Amino acid sequence: MHEKKFDIIIIGGGILGVSLGYFLTLNSDANIVILEREKNVSSHTSSRNTGKVHAPFLYDPIKKKIFARISFLGYTMWETYSKSKRISFKQDGVLEIAKEEKDIEVLKKYIEWGIKNGLEEKDIHFLNYQETRAIEPNIICHGSIYCKRDASVNYGLLTTTLKNDYLLAGGKLLNLHEVIGIKNKNDNCVIEIVTKDREKKIITSKYVINTAGGHSLDIAHQLEIGLEFFDLHFRGEYWKAPEEYAKLTSHSIYSVPKRLNFPFLDPHWIIKADGHCEIGPNAVPVFGPYSYHLLDNLKNFLPKTREIFLKKGLWSLFYNREFVSLLTHEIAGSFSKRIMIQRVKQFLPALDPKKFTTRGTSGIRSLIINDKGNFIPDTLLLKNSISLNILNYNSPGATGALPLSAMIVHELINDKLINKVTQPNQLWNIEDIYSKIKF
Ligand SMILES: Cc1cc2nc3c(=O)[nH]c(=O)nc-3n(C[C@H](O)[C@H](O)[C@H](O)COP(=O)(O)OP(=O)(O)OC[C@H]3O[C@@H](n4cnc5c(N)ncnc54)[C@H](O)[C@@H]3O)c2cc1C
Repeated sequence: MHEKKFDIIIIGGGILGVSLGYFLTLNSDANIVILEREKNVSSHTSSRNTGKVHAPFLYDPIKKKIFARISFLGYTMWETYSKSKRISFKQDGVLEIAKEEKDIEVLKKYIEWGIKNGLEEKDIHFLNYQETRAIEPNIICHGSIYCKRDASVNYGLLTTTLKNDYLLAGGKLLNLHEVIGIKNKNDNCVIEIVTKDREKKIITSKYVINTAGGHSLDIAHQLEIGLEFFDLHFRGEYWKAPEEYAKLTSHSIYSVPKRLNFPFLDPHWIIKADGHCEIGPNAVPVFGPYSYHLLDNLKNFLPKTREIFLKKGLWSLFYNREFVSLLTHEIAGSFSKRIMIQRVKQFLPALDPKKFTTRGTSGIRSLIINDKGNFIPDTLLLKNSISLNILNYNSPGATGALPLSAMIVHELINDKLINKVTQPNQLWNIEDIYSKIKF
């Protein structure tokens, strides 16, 4: 078995791991490696999402304060980065509509949250029914919010481009290297890896950053961190709209969620960065973070079911009335393409479900639940002396990956875990980003 030593190991080459690598190489002299189990970076959620640079009006400034701040800062950062690389950043704005009269109150609250989270009044407006119809004549609703500070991008492409910058700045990437074990030995992190050829390796480091997406909780548990948490996985599927619907709206349309605590259950009408339209995502419960297909899902059936039976806290989830009703009503409906399209048809009546014949991509959300059976609303940054574990990093995680990474690198420098060495001609100053986050 070979043994190698690094200052910092990043587990996972999704948008977050790669963004961290980018800021670390540009701002420190640390010897860094990203370990990625797949052949390419961004093979999972970071390429399998809606592709929106989300405006922060959907995030409660208290319960989701990290997501709210990083979503606000992410917009300008992705805009700057995309321009510097001549990659499309389509500032196309978004409409959030009230399907029912009672949703108007929610829209008003969203406007308050948006302003608290940094939006200016010129960026976000309430539109009544007539005003909404004036810009979107095919939409039926009771009113809407129009936010122009919202954009469409290709996060897979952005991650790959950032990865190239990271490699140019001296960072290392080991693809097809899967972490299968991790432990703390005399305040060093000892990581066991298996390569594609089934070769086993040991790599050690002073510090590890766990950005393994749907596997991050499993890795944290091996470090005895976050043992009170459990995760559940939901596959979000999309259906491509036929060409004839391309001009049906000029904006992506989201609706006030039926259940405010579970916004991921309501599908949207999406105009993607390349101009084609999709409906989605839904939320189909699956057994693992890579359960895109039946066989992958079945592989995870036994381990996940065992975990459910053994984990005490999970049982409290089934005493949680809202969750049980969610499971029986909303999630059960997620299995049906027809029900998903009908939900969007409520506000876009011109749609004919029979015309949706092509699947779009699908991406898996891994949601963290605590030992009381409650879903955790914000991302969790759990540390010990040798590791930082980023858990529950769901939407708007892609939007927030750059600012969150700049903040973390600044903190590692402040904590003297790495030395600050700044490479010239950078797009951002990390102190500046840090001072704007202020959690
Ligand atoms: C359906 C859907 C729609 C979304 N839409 C949006 C959106 O419009 N806008 C937005 O901002 N956010 C959106 N999100 C959220 C966003 O995509 C995620 O927050 C973000 O991609 C998470 O990035 P990540 O790097 O943490 O995880 P990932 O992209 O999952 O990356 C983790 C990486 O770790 C690797 N890995 C895992 N285990 C190991 C191991 N043991 N060893 C080595 N490597 C390992 C994986 O292969 C993977 O490449 C959406 C999410 C979903 C599911």
